[in-house]
Amino acid sequence: MEMLSGYAPCDDYINAVVEVKTGLTAPDLLQHLQQLEMIAGRQRPYINAPRNLDLDLLLYGNGHIESSMLTVPHPRMWQRAFVLVPLAEIAPGLVAPDMLDAVKSQVISRL
Ligand code: ADP
Ligand code: MG
Repeated sequence: MEMLSGYAPCDDYINAVVEVKTGLTAPDLLQHLQQLEMIAGRQRPYINAPRNLDLDLLLYGNGHIESSMLTVPHPRMWQRAFVLVPLAEIAPGLVAPDMLDAVKSQVISRL
């Protein structure tokens, strides 16, 4: 799961990756995440619009899901340092050194 705050292409944003244990199916988990976004007042006026909260499902165990609502693993996670670096901290076995190398030009900093 990933959390973004105040994201816009040109703004700084806060990001975190967390691991959760759940009995929910992946589609149900996504629905819960979207409910949390809604409670936080998130609106979706256009693609990549600045948002106060973005909760994405990065991985679901070893699952591979391809539906109109949900793609897991998250299709863009491997291109994003702000995902891979915190993911490597909690699950080093999932992020190979060459993956981190591929995103090292992206500027991120630890809070
Ligand atoms: P972003 O791609 O920037 O996170 P949104 O949060 O607006 O954009 O999500 C757009 C749509 O992406 C959602 O309605 C959701 O159905 C879909 N989606 C597909 N796969 C995922 C995933 N792994 N995690 C979160 N949303 C997903
Ligand atoms: Mg999202």
